[in-house]
Amino acid sequence: MTFISDILSLTPEELGKYIAGTGEKPFRTKQILKWLHQKRAASFDAMSDIPLGLRERLKSDFSFEHIKPVRVLESPADGTVKLLFELCDGNHIETVLMSYEHGDSLCVSTQAGCKMGCRFCASTIAGFRRNLEPCEILGQLYETERATGRKVSSIVLMGIGEPLDNFDNVVKFLRILSSPDGTDMSLRHVSLSTCGLVDRIYDLAALDFGLTLSISLHSPYDEKRSELMPVNNRYHIPELMKACRDYFAKTGRRISFEYALIEGENDSYGDAKALVGLMKGMPAHINIIPVNKIKERSYRSDRASAQRFCKLLCGLGANATVRRTLGADIDAACGQLRREYEGADKNTEV
Ligand code: SAH
Repeated sequence: MTFISDILSLTPEELGKYIAGTGEKPFRTKQILKWLHQKRAASFDAMSDIPLGLRERLKSDFSFEHIKPVRVLESPADGTVKLLFELCDGNHIETVLMSYEHGDSLCVSTQAGCKMGCRFCASTIAGFRRNLEPCEILGQLYETERATGRKVSSIVLMGIGEPLDNFDNVVKFLRILSSPDGTDMSLRHVSLSTCGLVDRIYDLAALDFGLTLSISLHSPYDEKRSELMPVNNRYHIPELMKACRDYFAKTGRRISFEYALIEGENDSYGDAKALVGLMKGMPAHINIIPVNKIKERSYRSDRASAQRFCKLLCGLGANATVRRTLGADIDAACGQLRREYEGADKNTEV
């Protein structure tokens, strides 16, 4: 199975080039793009104002597959929706729709599985399967809106996988998402979360997309961070912070730091002081998350400790908040739903 030729993975420019190559009139490009990104056609046959001959040609040159929601869990408490999607090759990924005052935000996956090996993360335990194609990242948005009837106003690349480890496809997704002929969403409404692939942070800064960069930091000390996040052996904290400062200098966007608080691991006064020290002279926001329990590890913390740690940081002059806990009643830490489903009898789960 090849995903390269899925029509939803093409940027508007690429589709334009293809149409020019067929000898069709240029306005056909806009017509097709409208079917794909605005009207969200379910098939080539639904594109009723495209001549039959061109539709047949598209069918033979491209696939147009759709990822399928196989589980949809909605929280009655706060409206959070977790969706488990099946990809065309049988892999599974998770997507979460969260409701905020400013609108609905969608957390999308960028890989099936993950190879980064963070100790506290369920997404990485089952290992890495493959990168997602642009159409599969975009498909999470389109199929979530279709399944829930809700309109997404912002996107966070913070689901399963490391977005900067699938750089080219993520960049292509961002190009389609932000193009006025594509989804037409401003990248000001997009955040990308990374465990800290420094080389790619420089590449992203050079593209100057204007999106918010979130860094999963989780400890201000190299030794502890390397223990929690093996990627830190490749890129140490000083290198990472240098890349963050460069990102801010190039884009003017404040960096957000994610900090999963873990009892006895990264929650001391010394941790708070060192963390604030790292952020000196740089507009940053620290997002404290009480670590989500996963069954393979004994890491724990609670909201009260997160609030205490947050107060410590604010007292030391940092800009920090505790992340709102959403969907607690349907909780499965990111990556758990997929693992449970793949290990379970699918017929009883749908
Ligand atoms: N690979 C990217 C994005 C996916 S992880 C990254 O590392 O940023 C999304 C966020 O969830 C990251 O901040 C990650 O560190 C955090 N995370 C993973 N497992 C967690 C857990 N059990 N509890 C709290 N946060 C967790």
